[in-house]
Amino acid sequence: MSNLNRFDAITIFPEYFAPLNLSLIGKAQSAGLIEIGIHDLRSQTTDVHGSVDDTPYGGGAGMVMSPEPWGKAIDEVAELAPDEIHELIVLTPAGQKLTQALAQELTQSKHLIFACGRYEGIDVRVSDFYATQKNFKVREISIGDYVLGGGEVATLVIMEAIIRLLPGVIGNPASLDEESHTLISQDGALVEYPNYTKPKEWRGLNVPDVLLSGNHGEIAKWRLEQAVIRTKNRPS
Ligand code: SAM
Repeated sequence: MSNLNRFDAITIFPEYFAPLNLSLIGKAQSAGLIEIGIHDLRSQTTDVHGSVDDTPYGGGAGMVMSPEPWGKAIDEVAELAPDEIHELIVLTPAGQKLTQALAQELTQSKHLIFACGRYEGIDVRVSDFYATQKNFKVREISIGDYVLGGGEVATLVIMEAIIRLLPGVIGNPASLDEESHTLISQDGALVEYPNYTKPKEWRGLNVPDVLLSGNHGEIAKWRLEQAVIRTKNRPS
């Protein structure tokens, strides 16, 4: 078994994933901390049009992604990490909502396969079938209560939320400890306190005196108070 975390996405729009070569994730790949593969679902089709969808049984508007190319693509991608349990993430607005805790949990998976739906989504038998396979774990995940055109953007969001938590990806891991949704108080998870940098005065607005005091105890106390206030006042 490898110690590396491997991420594979299956999509009809591989070009959507160009940003994975930038910034923290690009560097993490170059440093060999993670491996990412992007796979074109249409390469699994046999007809000249590369069809991946069909009309829904029962009627109704829109098209549904066919199980056949999905099954072939997932089987092929699973072979890239044959010794691992494959966490198959099916993106859908009907899925479990992404949270920081879920991103943290997914850092434990050595092989994540993201199935990016389009049209009305993927024939549900794809999730149902892999849920019965002993070397797969299936999760349907949503990034929020709204509907996107496809699962690609949702996959980028989830990958980034996970990858930045992996050891060695962020230069100073301490910066992860006090972040929004990680900072815990007796009332639950907090959002982060407000941040300031130079200059001390900008357009008539001053940095709070306590942050200039050099008193680390008072600064920590003020930050916690501010985090509690911000969390309480956050629009839901
Ligand atoms: N007919 C589906 C429904 O009503 O639940 C919506 C399909 S949506 C137009 C096409 C694809 O975009 C979905 O299959 C999914 O992969 C992706 N998608 C849309 N919204 C999403 C969300 N909030 N979170 C994750 N994926 C989403």
